[in-house]
Amino acid sequence: MQLDRLLQSQGWGSRKQCQQWIRAGRVTVGDEIVTRPTATFEPDGLHHAVDGEAAVWRASLYLLLHKPAGHECSREPQAHDSVFSLLPARFAARGVQPVGRLDQDTTGVLLLTDDGPLLHRISSPRHHVPKTYLVTCRHEIDDAQIDALLGGVVLRDDPAPVTARQCERVDARRLTLVIGEGRYHQVKRMLAAVGNRVEALHRVAVGTVTLGDLAEGQWRELTADEVTALR
Ligand code: URA
Repeated sequence: MQLDRLLQSQGWGSRKQCQQWIRAGRVTVGDEIVTRPTATFEPDGLHHAVDGEAAVWRASLYLLLHKPAGHECSREPQAHDSVFSLLPARFAARGVQPVGRLDQDTTGVLLLTDDGPLLHRISSPRHHVPKTYLVTCRHEIDDAQIDALLGGVVLRDDPAPVTARQCERVDARRLTLVIGEGRYHQVKRMLAAVGNRVEALHRVAVGTVTLGDLAEGQWRELTADEVTALR
């Protein structure tokens, strides 16, 4: 693939901009400055940099962001910062989107990708990737609430009941909850349906993907195994 097209495909800029940067000596491939926009390279896995910002060529991107509170999962946020402000601009430019949205005040695992078919499949109501949350409640959690969550609750404005796949008390006001579906405000509405209220919500895992030691506000690419497990 020609270097100018290769950079454009990764969201760096328009083809014309990329050509200008290459001619100006601002682009390296491996350790070499390349100044000919039509120079060709095998793109897959190619290490390159623009103005010293290093990247690896990927046909599709699969990202994990440790989402902090106060960020909306939208490119055009209404009242808070966007999660895209935490990612290199080239990711949004190449069409990366969140795989299911988290509320602005929810923290934890947020997956993003520009793999359209995967995004579609995981977001489909039939594809129930388990999502694990640590839920901090306003009121003490009693056995009746746990039983109700495991037995299935009806959410306001939605007649089809939802059932927790797992629900375990961590301490008096915290529980871990695993759900399959991803309905709008689902966890908050489930806790409201059993007479409690969510004070803080942290997504611990989506499928097998967990944060490990990824700090809040930081991102990493998913490993090949993590992507395979999501399919
Ligand atoms: N359920 C919610 O209520 N909010 C989220 O952000 C995610 C799941």
